[in-house]
Amino acid sequence: MKLAVPKGTKDVLSIEMEKYRQIENIFSNVCKNYGYGEITTPVFEFTELFKRGVGETTDVVSKEMYTFLDKGNRSLTLRPEGTAGVVRSYINNGMTSLVQPVKLYYMGKMYRYENVQKGRYREFTQIGLEAFGSSKASIDVEIISLVNMFFEKLGISDLQLMINSIGCKTCRLEYNKKLKNYYEEYISGLCSDCKIRYTKNPLRLLDCKVENCQKVAKNAPLFMDNLCGECLNDFSTVKQGLDNLEIDFTINKTLVRGLDYYTKTVFEFISDNVGTQGTICAGGRYDDLVELLGGKQTPGIGFAMGVERLLMELESREINMTNEVYPVLYIATLGEKAYSIASKIAYELRKQNIYVDIDVSGRGLKAQMKYANKKNVKYVVVIGENEIASNKCKIKIMETGVEKQINVDAISEIIIENKA
Ligand SMILES: [Zn+2]
Ligand SMILES: [Zn+2]
Repeated sequence: MKLAVPKGTKDVLSIEMEKYRQIENIFSNVCKNYGYGEITTPVFEFTELFKRGVGETTDVVSKEMYTFLDKGNRSLTLRPEGTAGVVRSYINNGMTSLVQPVKLYYMGKMYRYENVQKGRYREFTQIGLEAFGSSKASIDVEIISLVNMFFEKLGISDLQLMINSIGCKTCRLEYNKKLKNYYEEYISGLCSDCKIRYTKNPLRLLDCKVENCQKVAKNAPLFMDNLCGECLNDFSTVKQGLDNLEIDFTINKTLVRGLDYYTKTVFEFISDNVGTQGTICAGGRYDDLVELLGGKQTPGIGFAMGVERLLMELESREINMTNEVYPVLYIATLGEKAYSIASKIAYELRKQNIYVDIDVSGRGLKAQMKYANKKNVKYVVVIGENEIASNKCKIKIMETGVEKQINVDAISEIIIENKA
């Protein structure tokens, strides 16, 4: 019986893996230029972390988590997102006592039991970052500019940036009251989830995907019109900062993020590209999350984006992320003795960081030449009894077909000189 992969997962084969690697490299370069260091946290954590950190009323926690008991009867969950784990790590590892802000980026697999559709998997890859310890909106601008720069380096410069503010603890209290007042007369018509949200977390009401709930949400009071002085001030700092860097944005007053912990600035980068429309990157500030997870009050801000979604976007724009490398040298061999000489030459050259290929399948000369052609090799040499005896062999430049005679014991040297 042939075994398939579980629904919502996939094998990443080498050509595609190369694309992941490229994205990771570009991302980590941009992050490093902004002073971020990499962090890796466990793929599974105590379930409690996500319940508290992401929010029990969110779809992610209430419907989409891979939760299980381990053999010691602990409730564990495969991480559905990256922020909660990084925050926990920030607290556990005493990073509060480091020079602030502490800036961390990550790339890794996340897990959500979701409907599988194009570009959406149950095991997926996210890249993202978190910055702790700065309450100033200037870091909001810096992070948005980092994302913008990352997209530019990928060759995408026409994404739409949406920003909004969803206030702080103080103004949220007032706003929640207003929201509940507004929703009161519609309660009976809301979906069952929204009925729970109404009492537990009214802000979530605005985020519901059910059609009828969306209709009600349309005329709900806007957070933007209910911000306190401090939040208004921060929001204008964000706008000015983006203007200063000439980064275009749109204010979207209905933008709320799907997770509970966000405060003040929230943002999304959206693609208008037909076929891949939708959010590519989402982030925002979370000034109460560190405290919520047991640390001391510390402001934070971050974002995340799905790499599979990003790859789809790049593909639809025909941006090629593969960087195929071909062997510099192929050594065709005839006989055991030739093979041992060739394998020594190959070993030496590989040590010098040069991609060399030799026959390890016992092919005949003709088949070896065919193989070298398929692999797009730059130079081919053939070594057999005669070549060993005379120390003379031919090197062929595959592109032009030109052949030259060289010494067998000079192959390495010549390749090193001409590898480019
Ligand atoms: Zn406020
Ligand atoms: Zn609803």
